[in-house]
Amino acid sequence: MGKVPRILSWRNMLVLSLAVNFSLILRILKGTDGGNSSYVVSIWPVVSNSLDRTVYGDSKWPVVSTTASGSSSLSSASCNYNETQEDDERIINLKLGDPMVYERYWQEMGHMTTMVIAGWQSLSYFSDNNNELCWFLEPELAKEIVRVHKVVGNAVTQDRYIVVGTGSTQLYQAALYALSPHDDSGPINVVSAAPYYCSYPLITDCLKSGLYRWGGDAKTYKEEGPYIELVTSPNNPDGILRESVVNRSEGILIHDLAYYWPQYTPITSIADHDVMLFTASKSTGHAGMRIGWALVKDKETAKKMTEYIELNTIGVSKVSQLRVAKVLKAVSDSCGNETAKSFFEHSYDAMFERWKLLKQASKTSKGFTVPDFASQRCNFLGKVFEPQPAFAWLKCEEGIVDCEKFLREKKNILTKSGKYFGDDLSYVRVSMLDRDSIFNIFLHRISSSFNSTL
Ligand code: PMP
Repeated sequence: MGKVPRILSWRNMLVLSLAVNFSLILRILKGTDGGNSSYVVSIWPVVSNSLDRTVYGDSKWPVVSTTASGSSSLSSASCNYNETQEDDERIINLKLGDPMVYERYWQEMGHMTTMVIAGWQSLSYFSDNNNELCWFLEPELAKEIVRVHKVVGNAVTQDRYIVVGTGSTQLYQAALYALSPHDDSGPINVVSAAPYYCSYPLITDCLKSGLYRWGGDAKTYKEEGPYIELVTSPNNPDGILRESVVNRSEGILIHDLAYYWPQYTPITSIADHDVMLFTASKSTGHAGMRIGWALVKDKETAKKMTEYIELNTIGVSKVSQLRVAKVLKAVSDSCGNETAKSFFEHSYDAMFERWKLLKQASKTSKGFTVPDFASQRCNFLGKVFEPQPAFAWLKCEEGIVDCEKFLREKKNILTKSGKYFGDDLSYVRVSMLDRDSIFNIFLHRISSSFNSTL
């Protein structure tokens, strides 16, 4: 012992410690891989958002117990709805359809989708020199889009052109650009049956385009001449499966099929329309990757849509495309696994449980109603069930005129008023896609009295 101070004095140790710390800091700043600027992207998040203020792994959070064999219990039994941490003062925001319900699945399955992207990758603007149409579409993404539609059987991909976009929001604009007449006839009317997706009028009119303009509710549309009709099926906000309503020969249709996936609705047929829009945001829950895709029948339309994206953003993030390709691959692979539940079975179970509880709450509270849906057979899941949409189109009863105001002021719940969807103030749209903890609080609050004089 006595020799140690002679070999390493306190001063030596201090210098040594400083040197070690300094080199550690340098390594962190330069990256730990010896200068290679690769980074690992995973869809396994480390910390939660501000609403939950919790580091994942904290035992407070219910977690999906997917075993190594792939069997899973993300079912009614494993969703612990008693784990609500209620605080009446806390404002919960269910205005947007932020798809956090999928978080637990991807926390468990994240390793399947983790990828390493080196610094030398994704330099070029171009993705596919062989694709003379959508040159910024990553071939791997195109392959996985075709595969997942084949596996689920929800859309025709054969002889279709794929156009990738920064979310289907960009593709919606690309489709308007491509389908509007570019002559001197003035802006074409764009209509959709109310209640319609509240962003359509805003996106359509935000730049006051000379090519197109919002024309309102398709159900009351009477003008002569060409028009564009948006058919959202299942519909946002009410979850109903839809067809076009104007039905005139000069109508041009855009089908927004963001929610035509088996966790939300029975897949009854293979959709086969001229322009079909899909998005990772609602199919797998990866809204933050901002990837959507269009399946387009007509080559000229696909060309024009590509031209719009070229002018708008010169393509679409390659990193995001590669990540979505990996996620879609994991989803399709999970469907082929006979010993474990697929991604769609997991998410079907989660939505089923939420809708069951919401309907029970509606029956007991009598303060609000939700739409009734007809059961149909789902060709993919092989069973009969009612739609279980991503949003609840909730109607306040008990003489409450302004449902949004009532829920905000009396229940501290933020929702989107029916007026933004071309409908009545007695309706609100409520997201069914938030985390369990938030959904539990919502259920708890709407199960209590709806007395408007509270
Ligand atoms: N269409 C509908 C019907 C939607 O509900 C949404 C998302 N709320 C979108 C399109 C936009 O999706 P993305 O995140 O891909 O832009």
